[in-house]
Amino acid sequence: MVSKDKNQHSEDIQFPIVFERGEHNISRKELSDNALKVLYRLNKGGYNAYLVGGGVRDILLGQHPKDFDIATNATPEQIKKLFRNCRLIGRRFRLAHIVFGRDIIEVATFRGHHASAEETKAKAHSKQSEHGMLLRDNIYGSIDEDAERRDFTINALYYSIKDFKVYDFANGVSDIDNKLIRLIGDPETRYREDPVRMLRAIRFATKLDMEIETETAKPIKELAPLMANIPAARMFEEYLKLFLGGKATDNFHLLEQYQLLEYLFPHISKTYKVSPQSNAVKFVSRVLENTDKRINEGKRVTPAFLLAAVIWYHIEEGINNLVNTGMPYQDAFFASMNETMSEQQRCIAIPKRFQNPMKDIWFLQQKLMHREGNKAFKVLEHERFRAGYDFLLLRGEIEGGELLELANWWTNFQEAPYETQQQMVKGFKGVRSNRRRNTRRRRKPASKD
Ligand code: ATP
Ligand code: MG
Repeated sequence: MVSKDKNQHSEDIQFPIVFERGEHNISRKELSDNALKVLYRLNKGGYNAYLVGGGVRDILLGQHPKDFDIATNATPEQIKKLFRNCRLIGRRFRLAHIVFGRDIIEVATFRGHHASAEETKAKAHSKQSEHGMLLRDNIYGSIDEDAERRDFTINALYYSIKDFKVYDFANGVSDIDNKLIRLIGDPETRYREDPVRMLRAIRFATKLDMEIETETAKPIKELAPLMANIPAARMFEEYLKLFLGGKATDNFHLLEQYQLLEYLFPHISKTYKVSPQSNAVKFVSRVLENTDKRINEGKRVTPAFLLAAVIWYHIEEGINNLVNTGMPYQDAFFASMNETMSEQQRCIAIPKRFQNPMKDIWFLQQKLMHREGNKAFKVLEHERFRAGYDFLLLRGEIEGGELLELANWWTNFQEAPYETQQQMVKGFKGVRSNRRRNTRRRRKPASKD
């Protein structure tokens, strides 16, 4: 696709720049049936409706969007009247979700300017914090205003299935051509309104293989401390997008470079600054690479594994310190784990369903060291043996020595026939009678991937 501003200064351009049907590569075939259904129904109901944001951007870039966002002049209540399968959500942004089983199409009403809305009305529907952050933002407006409220130029592109045109309100097509992530408006103001835009700049740069434009990049380091005001629950959502989207390694480094990492992972960020060559950093890097590889191969990953890895060395250091003061290992383990976990939770609220697997993985690191008697067989039956073993293996690969030997022992043990397994545990102290072990059901060895 060719941008239309080649010889113009952006002040001279009339927005929106319109790309006719033949001038872009978007067609209805690229949209999901559900997205099309929603667009048609809104149009039929007498409203304007557009595909917007990532959907348009990704198709223009020749990629397949993972979800479709729609913008319309219908209010949430009007949308709800049109769709039986509609749920209204959100406080900060009131949105409509049109639910088709597991597929959800997000429909947002055009957002308006604060300045242009009547003062009183604005006060009732929007709210700013002392840092200039928007706490509530439910003023509706025109499509032009909606475009200006979006974060990056490449995200302010609208596609209509009425006339099949792409409407470009901020010179986003030109920035797509030039591979630039550029904020709309004054960068500092836009970051203050919503500091998460700093994380989004980084995520889009790595995801789309683009550069963050100079003016957009400039204020980030200075404004990074604003990240501390973001609710930890929202940070968890951002963590998922940054680290489970196949670009975890790149995002980690770019976040570090822009001094944003400490607002997600304070412990490893500090270690990284002090000793970038440490085993802790090497281990996290290895886990990040592994995560990306698995995702890019279409394999399943759990958000818990990476989170467990990111803070493990800090926990281990805490355990060692406490053990050195004479505390029993178990007590030291729980004390260090609880403290580190609650420090981490202040940045990222980790849902309970991921906290438990994290704790199991750490707990298994200790369990995997004990192989005597029927302990090894017991550990093999642990419901999260697989994750614990993978974790140990990665630690072993980084640290080498005894830890690697231990990991290799477990690799052989789980694949060996039962008789060999019995031989393998015999060498360890405290071997108990075989009686119980013989009646124990054998667990299938964990596969390697
Ligand atoms: P992807 O879905 O691939 O992460 P996306 O651009 O679709 O990318 P979403 O988070 O789905 O991102 O948001 C949809 C659109 O909403 C964006 O393209 C952007 O126009 C707008 N948007 C999202 N978050 C913000 C924000 N914090 N500030 C301003 N606009 C935003
Ligand atoms: Mg999206």
